[in-house]
Amino acid sequence: MKNDGGVAVMADGFMITTGPSFEGYSVTEYLGFVSSQALLGSNFISGLAANMTDASRKDTAKIDQCKEDAEDRLIKTAQKKGANAIIGMQITYAPFESGSFGIIVSGTAVKIVKHVAISDAVHKELYVTNYYNRLVPRPVKVILDGNSNEINMKLLCYNYNHDDILSVRVDVEYTNLYDERLVVKNVDFVFSDNVNLSLIESDYVQSKVAPNDLLLLKDAKVILTKYATPRGVYACNDQPINVSLSHRRLEALKAKRGIDAVEKYRSDGMIWTCNCGHVNEAGSEECIVCGRKQKDIMTKASFNYEEMIDRMKEKEYVVELKDVLMQYIKEIDASMRLELLEIMESGLQYEKTRGNMKETVIEKVEKVFEDASLLEN
Ligand SMILES: [Zn+2]
Repeated sequence: MKNDGGVAVMADGFMITTGPSFEGYSVTEYLGFVSSQALLGSNFISGLAANMTDASRKDTAKIDQCKEDAEDRLIKTAQKKGANAIIGMQITYAPFESGSFGIIVSGTAVKIVKHVAISDAVHKELYVTNYYNRLVPRPVKVILDGNSNEINMKLLCYNYNHDDILSVRVDVEYTNLYDERLVVKNVDFVFSDNVNLSLIESDYVQSKVAPNDLLLLKDAKVILTKYATPRGVYACNDQPINVSLSHRRLEALKAKRGIDAVEKYRSDGMIWTCNCGHVNEAGSEECIVCGRKQKDIMTKASFNYEEMIDRMKEKEYVVELKDVLMQYIKEIDASMRLELLEIMESGLQYEKTRGNMKETVIEKVEKVFEDASLLEN
């Protein structure tokens, strides 16, 4: 064992210190005082001069060996008590009876655990799940950054007009996994440094979110009240529209169609809903808010599958669902037909052994159309 007077670590990980604790470790159990001794033998030191400075070099080696033996025994004693360390170890040299000389080592047997290194930095990004159907800067993402003491937030806005937005005044409404809300009123996000005019990013401000609550957050809504440009201040009194897509689908939609996307493309022949959420007249080829072209975002899944699903929901068994599908099959894009038929076939098989599969099959059919509308161009 090597002992520099501070901390010594044995081959098996057992730790010893002369001090009261180990840096980076906590004592979880005190298992009692332990001691052991080793005898150097009689006539080791002549007379009563038990002063170690008088010992010869050969004697020093003997003393070291003796000390090691005592320490080994001390460790074994401590380990029997369930310890993995000894704190406050002391070595005492003492003359024993009849001219012999001994070493006593002692300390407190303890159980220690290493502190787990947890990064102090925290980071969370939340998509904004409401929007305005107008040419205002559109909040799209709230980013929270900080540490265990304080969390700051910044706002990303999609800037359809390429305005020189200086600041926005908003209420931020956070929702956590228990559907509890935290509203931070009248937050001024300032955009002091923006090169990209399409997607602008604010400076950080205090979030009022407690660090412990950060991981629980699932969603943010941003209610815009005012924004400032060099030309003036603009009020926004519109009612925001809530995004209806689930978080997973919103994420997939944004990945495919851009960070401002909030709605799937829909059309009933009279009007069409753009990915930005704006409802356009059938005659207009381009969305008047975001400029997306209808032909670019139309999908194979623009077939009105909701109507088919509604009819399936009125049925009871998979065999009936399959009948409904077959009535629509020619209107459905050929690339999706096989998958839909396979869903029906496996539904029929499972229904023989596992009971009614109606809900499962309908869910799968819906997913085929929803995924198709998100994943294709
Ligand atoms: Zn649009």
